[in-house]
Amino acid sequence: MEFFVSLLDILLFPDPQLRKVAAPVNTVDGRVAALADDMLETMYNAPGIGLAATQINVHERLVVIDVSEENDQPLVLINPVLVHSEGEAEMQEGCLSIPEIYETIKRPSHVTVEAVDREGSPFKLDADGLLAVCLQHEIDHLDGKLFVDYLSPLKRNRIRKKMIKAARELEDND
Ligand code: ZN
Repeated sequence: MEFFVSLLDILLFPDPQLRKVAAPVNTVDGRVAALADDMLETMYNAPGIGLAATQINVHERLVVIDVSEENDQPLVLINPVLVHSEGEAEMQEGCLSIPEIYETIKRPSHVTVEAVDREGSPFKLDADGLLAVCLQHEIDHLDGKLFVDYLSPLKRNRIRKKMIKAARELEDND
């Protein structure tokens, strides 16, 4: 059996579209399931461990995650809500919208998230470690927030300039 999926373009920081707040998904139907499949394929191809719809310029509350080594544990979270968080941990984060930039970010270490899966069934997820960080990072995207927002304005501005310069060099090479 063959699946037809398409790879989607990922917006790059500082694209202002990344700052939009996503709207809730009203109905989980075939369109949303197909979008989730395309997002997973795009994420695996990048490669990355998480992707929010905001990053592909779709402003709906949908994220996909897979933190497994084998890329065989895809998670689809529709309308995810962070209902509980506790503890504190520092981890190095990166983002498909901010390639080649990695910074240590402090966040709660344990989270509970409620969401709906690609079949439309509600579920609850308790997470720690990398998955907890990834969940928070992706839900932030839906609210127009990026991991560089946790850095000092000076550091963030340096990254912004680096990204703009890299984009310009890419254009010149075309
Ligand atoms: Zn990201």
